[in-house]
Amino acid sequence: MSRIAYVNGQYLPHTDAAVHVEDRGFQFADGVYEVCEVRNSLIVDLTRHLDRLDRSLSELRMASPMDRKAMTVVIREVLRRNRVRNGIFYLQVTRGAARRDHFFPAADTAPTLVITAKSVDPSIARKKYETGIKVITVAENRWDRVDIKSVGLLPNVLAKQQARDAGAQDAIYIDRNGIVMEGASSNVWIVTPDGALVTRPAEHGILRGITRTTVLDVAASLQLSVEEREFTAEDMLAAREVFFTSATGTCVPIIEVDGKTIANGHPGTVASSIRDAFFDIAEKTAI
Ligand code: PMP
Repeated sequence: MSRIAYVNGQYLPHTDAAVHVEDRGFQFADGVYEVCEVRNSLIVDLTRHLDRLDRSLSELRMASPMDRKAMTVVIREVLRRNRVRNGIFYLQVTRGAARRDHFFPAADTAPTLVITAKSVDPSIARKKYETGIKVITVAENRWDRVDIKSVGLLPNVLAKQQARDAGAQDAIYIDRNGIVMEGASSNVWIVTPDGALVTRPAEHGILRGITRTTVLDVAASLQLSVEEREFTAEDMLAAREVFFTSATGTCVPIIEVDGKTIANGHPGTVASSIRDAFFDIAEKTAI
């Protein structure tokens, strides 16, 4: 079955799906995106993802290509046409196609909307939950508006590749004061030696992950003690558990940081109990 992508009003086979050579997403990374999980034919946390999309668009003074109701119809249609039961959809909006010029294009320039979807075998995530992953730390080198989910991901691409080249799976940004920021595509959590669940505040310096927000709901329902505060790379190394949250991995245990083993080197129970409760607590929307 060939995959189908939505591009500016049309559902096209991937081989024919394309945007203009002067699309501002291509030329300036002048665009924003969302990635949303689909599990058991249900879209996870759609409202929060579309709320964040609206925020990213408005922070960049970019128009939305369509209203929420219409966008939800298209998202569902893309998922149906690709027969996704477990997987993701990817949605990108750019400031449109216009003759190359840094200034914003004319106000009547239509934004570009691309939506793709793919199935993902759930056993891939399960394996990560069982074994945990290894990460490296990298110096924070991104702009100070990473709270906007922009498609300008070059530092993240380089950090991830640096991790792979070092024999690890992912990278965590550390600022110049030794504070843990976030992963290259996830938020970071630790469980302290005395059992507190800690994640850094999301007011600035990181993306406010949708999974992070829902995990805060999960933690409340499990009556876990949560602290939203900064923590250092040293705190992370001394933690009982370290894990990532993201829409693509839910809650992935980290067992090694820069070659140093976390706790006993095995995934922890806080991460697994959060994962077990997550889907029940998250908002679910039928395809
Ligand atoms: N931080 C960054 C830099 C990310 O790219 C992502 C994934 N989009 C996240 C955090 C996690 O966000 P979410 O839970 O919404 O997937």
